[in-house]
Amino acid sequence: MGSLQLKSIRKAFGTHEVLKGIDLDVTDGEFVIFVGPSGCGKSTLLRVIAGLEDATQGSIRIDGQEVATVPPAKRGIAMVFQSYALYPHLTVKDNMGLGLKQAGAPAQEIETRVSKASKMLSLDPYLARRPAELSGGQRQRVAIGRAIVREPKLFLFDEPLSNLDAALRVQTRLEIARLHRELKATMIYVTHDQVEAMTLADKIVVLSAGAIEQVGSPMELYNHPANVFVAGFIGSPQ
Ligand code: ADP
Ligand code: MG
Repeated sequence: MGSLQLKSIRKAFGTHEVLKGIDLDVTDGEFVIFVGPSGCGKSTLLRVIAGLEDATQGSIRIDGQEVATVPPAKRGIAMVFQSYALYPHLTVKDNMGLGLKQAGAPAQEIETRVSKASKMLSLDPYLARRPAELSGGQRQRVAIGRAIVREPKLFLFDEPLSNLDAALRVQTRLEIARLHRELKATMIYVTHDQVEAMTLADKIVVLSAGAIEQVGSPMELYNHPANVFVAGFIGSPQ
């Protein structure tokens, strides 16, 4: 299970209102893409969902339960960042298992889940290495693996492929699509890459200056963009 309901989410930093009332329903197992220009609030919205920032106003429900006061570690959410955010002094195996260890999981359970995730991501040969001994693509797979072992209800990806070269971007995108099918998990994914948006999404959310311009399937947005702004983003002829 991993449905998400956002109601009237607002977020201000001082007097600067970055999210101006976001309403969104994400159903269990859906792959939702957020697109929009730099600075429009995509990362802030993910961070608010994850609990890394508090919303100024509004309600966040996961599987029907209000989580505004639930701490990040208890929301059943795992986030994957553009920068990987791995611990340089830990091995791949320990990086992947750290979250479970901190949550007090038994060693055997950690071993089993890390082993399963590393097989899914073809990371078995690298378990004893440290991040500095891996390529960028491998590091991002470790970051994805670290999210998988926690078996979250909701995966949040913040431009996970933007530090990778073109060939690796395609490969990792296909891998994320496969994981979505295998795990049947709910995924919310920020990108400014149209190909990623059109190929991965069940539903695309187009954001501009902290507000939603349009929500729809890739084909709905492509064939019926609500305005010129959306058309520009989805690449429909104007
Ligand atoms: P995006 O991910 O769409 O590029 P962000 O969510 O990172 O956009 O940022 C949206 C706006 O919020 C930007 O104007 C940014 O400067 C501002 N912002 C983000 N985080 C903070 C913060 N911690 N303090 C102040 N302003 C912030
Ligand atoms: Mg961002």
